[in-house]
Amino acid sequence: MSAPTAATVSLTVRNPYDGGVVGEVALADRTAIRAALGQGAEWAARPLPSRHQRATWLNAIADAVEAERESLARGITAESGLALKDTRVEAARTVAVFRFAAIEALADRGESFSGDITADGRDRRAHTLQLPAGLVAAMTPFNLPLNQVAHKLAPAIAAAAPIVCKPSERAPLSGLRLGAIVAAAGVPAGAVTVLAAEPEAFLDEVLAEDRVAVVAFTGSVAVGKMIAGRLGYRRAMLELGGNDPLIVLADADLDEAAALAVTGAFRSGGQRCTAVKRILAAEPIADALVERMVARTRTLVVGDPADERTDVGTLISADAAASVEQRVATALEAGARLLLGGTRDGALMQPTVLDHVPRDADLVASETFGPVAPVIRVADLDDAIAVANATPYALSSGVCTRDLQSAMRCVRELRAGTVNVRELPGYRSEVTPFGGVGDSGLGVKEGVREAIRAMSFTKLYTLPWT
Ligand code: NAD
Repeated sequence: MSAPTAATVSLTVRNPYDGGVVGEVALADRTAIRAALGQGAEWAARPLPSRHQRATWLNAIADAVEAERESLARGITAESGLALKDTRVEAARTVAVFRFAAIEALADRGESFSGDITADGRDRRAHTLQLPAGLVAAMTPFNLPLNQVAHKLAPAIAAAAPIVCKPSERAPLSGLRLGAIVAAAGVPAGAVTVLAAEPEAFLDEVLAEDRVAVVAFTGSVAVGKMIAGRLGYRRAMLELGGNDPLIVLADADLDEAAALAVTGAFRSGGQRCTAVKRILAAEPIADALVERMVARTRTLVVGDPADERTDVGTLISADAAASVEQRVATALEAGARLLLGGTRDGALMQPTVLDHVPRDADLVASETFGPVAPVIRVADLDDAIAVANATPYALSSGVCTRDLQSAMRCVRELRAGTVNVRELPGYRSEVTPFGGVGDSGLGVKEGVREAIRAMSFTKLYTLPWT
């Protein structure tokens, strides 16, 4: 559903590649935001739609997204500069989000417990019911602007929790289109609202509405922590930034590792929370790895994001690209060696490979959201784990080794929400648990099944019949 009442200000969305106007979006004013939240809160008080009904809505949405896949992909590309190759994948993933949510909507995750399991136990039985936690307010980032919104709406519909979601003002059109698809699929007004609004105004109104039970935020660490500090007595779902390492040990398959490093660093122009942001290469194989990475990077097509052949499109804005360029320059001053790239034209940043990056360079010490593959040389597995764990982020990670013991040490010792062996840190399905700890999140996971749980509460009832 769109916001119920008038909007006062509008936003012009421009294509970061050519500056052309992609759309004009009406911003909900504070009255409209309050009305949307109020409508959601009222919906929360209604009888729950059946599981069958929720699954029917979710499948209808999946069908509609499937039918619109190509135009949705082209829409994301136009408003974000992400290459069509990537946005086609994003649109397909969005279909999967709703399909999995439909399956999960049908799954009753209630549990039963016997009452006679202690010495003083009784012949009773305890049962649990999963009920909606209440009104959810969500805010999503500019990267993956369709799929991020899907990961808020789909679990909310499955959990029967009403939701008001505000996509990023930097790429709002895809999320708003999804909101329209949800409404057209028959989801009632109040159950789902997607609106564009000025971020601070939206947050203020969310926090002023006592009936908001859950705040689901995906975005940067700084904004996430600021929001966490203001939440008060509410549940937080925080999916924040990452600084994911790809560890390449001396026994790794170097062609595989180079392919993972290059894909992980440059897909979506590096603008993914789980992009490979640091390559920790064991000294004995570092030269050979870097050589392979450079060769692969040279084959990437960089340019017009709407061209099907393009691998790397633009960043979200020229300002974003300028800040990445600046970080690269600072790392070079600190002793890193530039092997490829390092330059930009407007929002288009060349895929950049750097070797010998100092461990404390800002480029790798904090999240760099752009097409940069910084190689940090490490002595061995112990050193790799120490460097990997030396940032406050702890989202995901990848490890390239053929040795099970080394892999299992990484699984146990890496401080991260996910450890993928011989895979990208970003590998997952839409239903598997996903999310970080440390600065990357509070350990409350997303992924359809976990998000449904986070948008629900468990009611216990006990009966004298067993
Ligand atoms: P961002 O923090 O700037 O914005 C995220 C959301 O917060 C947007 O909806 C924005 O409008 C809102 N916002 C921004 N400033 C605000 C303020 N002062 N008050 C209230 N709301 C405000 O993030 P971004 O730049 O859009 O997205 C990139 C970041 O998101 C990266 O750090 C990336 O790693 C992270 N991210 C994390 C995940 C994950 O699942 N962990 C997924 C995708 C992106």
